[in-house]
Amino acid sequence: MIFLLRVFVVLATIFTSPGQAATLRTATRVVEPFVFETNGSFTGFSIELWGEICRKIGIKSQLLLKDDVKAMLAAVTHGEADFAISAISITAERENELDFSQPIFDSGLLIMTPVKRHQHEVLTAVLDEIFSSAILPWLGTMVLIILVPAHLVWFAERRHPQGMLGSRHYFPGIFEACWWAASTLATQADQMPRAMLARAVAVVWMFASVIFVAYFTAGVTSSLTLQKLHGDINGPADLAGRRVVTVLGSTSAEFLRARHVTFAEFKSLPSAIAMLETNEADALVYDAPALLYFAAHEGQGKVQIVGSVFKKESYGIAVRENSPLLKAVDSALLKLREDGTYDLLYARWFGGRAGGN
Ligand code: GLU
Repeated sequence: MIFLLRVFVVLATIFTSPGQAATLRTATRVVEPFVFETNGSFTGFSIELWGEICRKIGIKSQLLLKDDVKAMLAAVTHGEADFAISAISITAERENELDFSQPIFDSGLLIMTPVKRHQHEVLTAVLDEIFSSAILPWLGTMVLIILVPAHLVWFAERRHPQGMLGSRHYFPGIFEACWWAASTLATQADQMPRAMLARAVAVVWMFASVIFVAYFTAGVTSSLTLQKLHGDINGPADLAGRRVVTVLGSTSAEFLRARHVTFAEFKSLPSAIAMLETNEADALVYDAPALLYFAAHEGQGKVQIVGSVFKKESYGIAVRENSPLLKAVDSALLKLREDGTYDLLYARWFGGRAGGN
C-alpha cells in the first residue's frame, strides 16, 4: 500500500513538473524477436513486455524507432527519450551514462556461420585447392627434372648392345628413357640400364627420387592440414584471420575489438547475415537469442550456430539517469515475473520456460 502511494507520488511529480510530457517516449530498435516493426506498428517480446510494464505503472509511451544501439542509448542520455527497450545489454560503461532496470532477459554472444558444405562439396573443394596450389608446381618441376636423367640415360644407353632402349634414335628412344625416369621416380621401374654411365645416373636418380617423393608428400600433407585448420570455426578462438562481421555499436563489436579480431560492422542484423549468405563473411558474432531465432526461422538450411554462448549478458531497459520512474519500472517487472505474465510472454516468443534459453 505504502509502495503504491510512493509510485503515485513519483508519477504525480513527473506529470505535473513543467516541461515533462504526459506521454513518455521510448526509444527502440528492430532486433527480432525482441522488436519487430511493420509499417509503424511494433510487436515482439520486448515490446509486449514494455506494454505490460506501462500498463502496470499506468503510463503511456510512444515508441521512437532508432537505427542502432548507440543511437537508441544516446536518445535516452540526451533527453530525446525517457526509456530505451529492445535487446540492450547491460554494461558497466553504459551504466556510467544512464541507468538500467532489473534484467529483463538472459542473453550472451554466439557465433553463426554459413551452413556446412556437404561432404562431397568439401572433397571437391580440397581437390580443387590441391590441384591449383599444391600439386601443379610440383608436377611441373617433376616433368622438367625427369628430362635430365632421361637425356643422360638415353645418351649413355643408346649404343649399348643389350641396352634397355628399343631404338638408337632420339625419337622414340627419348620417350622410353623418359618413361624409365618417371617409373623410377614412382619406384616402379621394371628395367635397369646396362651402360656404366647410365647405371651411375640411375643410382643418383633413385636417391633423388626418394627425396623428391618425400618433399612432395610433405607439401601435399601440409596443404591439406592448412585446409583443415582453416576449415572450421567452433568458437571465438577460431575467429582470428577470418572474415568476421557483427552489428554496429553492439557488445559483440566491443568483444571482438578487445580480442583484436578484425571485423566489419553492419547497421542491422539482416545486413550482417546477408554477408554470410553471399559467402562474403565466414562468421557472424552477435546476441545469442537473435541468432538462434534467425537460425530456427528464415535461416534454416542457410546458416548454422556453432559452439555455445561464450559471453553471458543480460538485457535491461535503459532509463535516464536518476529517473524517479526506475523504481516503478523495476517493481512492475518483479510483479510481472511473480504473476506469471513474464513466463507467458517468454513462452509465446521463445517457447519453453524463462531461464531455459
Ligand atoms: N545486445 C547488444 C548490445 O546491446 C546488441 C543490441 C542491438 O544490436 O541493438 O550491444
